[in-house]
Amino acid sequence: MLKTNVDFSKPSHNPAYSRGVKVAPLSNDKLRAIASSVRLSFGLGDSEPFPVREMIEFYFLPIWPDYSFEILGKEELGEDLGRTYPTIHRLCLREDVYSDLCKGLGYARYTGTHEGSHLILAHGVADPNEKQSETTFRYENAEWQADVLAEELLMPLCGIVGMDKYEIADKFGVSVAAAQVRIERVSKQRERKRAQFVSVPSPKLSTTAPLAIPPNPFPLKRCVERTAPHPAI
Ligand SMILES: [Zn+2]
Repeated sequence: MLKTNVDFSKPSHNPAYSRGVKVAPLSNDKLRAIASSVRLSFGLGDSEPFPVREMIEFYFLPIWPDYSFEILGKEELGEDLGRTYPTIHRLCLREDVYSDLCKGLGYARYTGTHEGSHLILAHGVADPNEKQSETTFRYENAEWQADVLAEELLMPLCGIVGMDKYEIADKFGVSVAAAQVRIERVSKQRERKRAQFVSVPSPKLSTTAPLAIPPNPFPLKRCVERTAPHPAI
């Protein structure tokens, strides 16, 4: 779920991600591949904005016949901008957020994509009472994964090359703050990959042996029922 007054440069978006539940780990590269698959299923090129309303209103229903999308008031969602129940394929947005989504406001588009990402990633919760440790690896954090997937869906890497945060915000319909976070995350990923490339010696490739290509580990899959009674995240 996303809370109100989210500042993407502040603790709610920091690496600790103390608010998220623990899930199976996914790397940046795997989340990018999932986003590419989803964008491809919409027939989108790298320069086209992601159709958030179409996703939450139409895209999920053929995948999960029990999928439901609901618009709820502040009396029900309180400070939460949205809420997702992955085990029963239910997605809720607060009515003011949905209204802003219909107007194309960046924060509302991000919220809808973040909540939809929980469904795409089948973020069932094994134990809703399990506290997220501050030291838990962020790749295992449901909120971190949903944020990264939302960024990949909204601002594809190949589409933002050479653009500043204002150009990204204008082209892809996101807030300037979200575009800034995206630029910083991509920059850090490049630094890490550059460091790995420098530190790891190149493998000797055989010209005759076939390359071992691992099976696709990130197909879109149905949510597996877990032990928890429909927790919201
Ligand atoms: Zn969330």
